[in-house]
Amino acid sequence: MVDAAREEWAQIARNIENEQEIMALLEAGRERVDSHDEVLAILKKAEEAKGLTLEEAAALIAIEDEELRRATWEAAGKVKHAIYGNRVVMFAPLYVANHCVNNCRYCGYSFKNKEMMRKKLTMDEIKEETRALINMGHKRIALEAGEDPVNIPLSYILDAIGAIYSVEENALNLRRINVNIAATDVAGYKALHDAEIGTYILFQESYRRKTYENMHVSGPKSNFNYHTSAHHRAMMGGIEDVGFGVLYGLDDWRYETIAMLRHAHILEKDQGVGPHTLSVPRVKKAIGVDNEMFPYALTDDEFLQVVAVLRLSLPYAGIILSTRESIEVRNRALTLGVSQMSAASCTGVGGYSVYKEEKEKTAQFSITDERSLAEVVRSLAQGGYMPSFCTACYRCGRTGDRFMELAKSGLIQLVCQPNALVTLKEFSLDFCPETNNPAYYEQELEKIANEKVRADTKDKLARLEKGERDLYL
Ligand code: SAM
Repeated sequence: MVDAAREEWAQIARNIENEQEIMALLEAGRERVDSHDEVLAILKKAEEAKGLTLEEAAALIAIEDEELRRATWEAAGKVKHAIYGNRVVMFAPLYVANHCVNNCRYCGYSFKNKEMMRKKLTMDEIKEETRALINMGHKRIALEAGEDPVNIPLSYILDAIGAIYSVEENALNLRRINVNIAATDVAGYKALHDAEIGTYILFQESYRRKTYENMHVSGPKSNFNYHTSAHHRAMMGGIEDVGFGVLYGLDDWRYETIAMLRHAHILEKDQGVGPHTLSVPRVKKAIGVDNEMFPYALTDDEFLQVVAVLRLSLPYAGIILSTRESIEVRNRALTLGVSQMSAASCTGVGGYSVYKEEKEKTAQFSITDERSLAEVVRSLAQGGYMPSFCTACYRCGRTGDRFMELAKSGLIQLVCQPNALVTLKEFSLDFCPETNNPAYYEQELEKIANEKVRADTKDKLARLEKGERDLYL
C-alpha cells in the first residue's frame, strides 16, 4: 500500500470512528429522551418515512421506558409496512472456504483454532453446492469465505462467482450473488463489480477502535483503517450497493448503532449513496470461541429496539436477519423492520451437499433457526407475509442512487409487489404446493392498483403455470 493511499484510508476511518462525536450524540440523545413529548414528536416525524437525524436516532436508542419502546416499535412497524408492505426477501449463505490468516476472538475461522476442519471447495464442488441450493428453491445467495490471500485469493472468489452463475438446474439458477468477503483494494472491488455481484457486504464488527483492535488480534483484518474505509473503496471500484453490519455483543449496542448510522451518513455524503443493506448479527457460539468474553450481550427487547431505530432512521435500507436468531425473534423483528431473511442456512463449507457429514466441524458459528426453506416460506405466508425471491432490481440496473431515487419516490412499489408475487408463484409451483393456492394469487392481483401492471402480472402468473420460469417486471 503506498503512503498516499494509506493516509486516504486512515482519514476516512478517523472520520467514521470519531468517538468524541458519537459519545456527544449519545449524550444529546439521553437528554432528549427525558421528555416523553419530545420522543413522541420524533416518532411522529419518523412515521413520515423520511429518516431521522443522528441526534433523533440517539434519543430513540436511549429509550428505557417500556411505553416509549412500544411506541417506537409501533412507528417502525408502520414505516416498514408503508415501504415494504408484507414482502420478505429470502436468501441463503454459501460458504466456499474457511482458511483464514486472521485471529479474531469471536470467530471460529481464526487460524489459531486447531479444532476447525479446514476446507476449500473446488469449482466442481461449488457447482454441486449451487445445485443443492437451487433444489431447495433458493434464487439469491451471500457468498462467504475466510481471508487467506494464498489459499483463497480474489481470483478464486471470482472463479467461484463464475461457477455459481454458470449452473442451470431444471431450468433454474441462482440469480443474485451478494458477496461477504474480506476488505480488498479498489482494483479488487472493480473485479468483483465486473463479475456482476449484487451487494458487497462487509461488517464493521465494532466501530470503536479500541474494541476492534482488541477483538482482531492479528492478520490483515486487524488493520482498523483499511477495514473501516472498505465500503468507500468498494464504491470507488464501481460497486453501487454495499452492506453494513455490526457484530452485536462486542461493545455497547447503543454506541455501535449510532456509529453505524453515522457511517451511513458519511458514505452518502462522500459517495452519493448510503448503504443498501444493514445487518444485525449477534455474536454466537463457535468452535474454539469462549463466549464468556462478550460482556455486551443485548436482550431480545434491546435487539428489537436496534432494528426499530435502524428502520426509522434509514427507511430505504434493507435490514437483513440471519438464522443466528430464533424463530420467535425473527418473527418479531419482521414486524419492526427486517426486510430480508436467510433460511435453511448452513455455515459449514460444503454443508448443503458435498461435505454434509462434516458441516459441524467446518462451521463458522452455530445457527438457531433450522427450518427448511419451504417451512419458513409456509410459516411466513401463514403469518400474512409474502416471501419474495425477486432479483429484478439488480438485473434491470436499478442499483445505487437509481434504486434509492426510485425507492424514495415510491415508484419502486409498482414493481416490488408484483415481482414478489410472481417469484413466490414460481417457488410454489416448483417447491411448495401449499403456497400455490389460486385464491391467494387472485386476491393479491386485485390489490395491484395500476391496471397495466396488474394485467402484466396476471400474464406472468399464467406463463409460469405453463412452464416458463424467471419472469419479472
Ligand atoms: N472473512 C470475511 C470478513 O472477515 O469480513 C467474511 C465475513 S465472515 C464469513 C461473516 C461474518 O460472520 C463476520 O463479518 C462476522 O461478523 C460474523 N461472525 C464471525 N464469527 C461469529 C460468531 N461467533 N457469531 C456470530 N457471527 C459471527
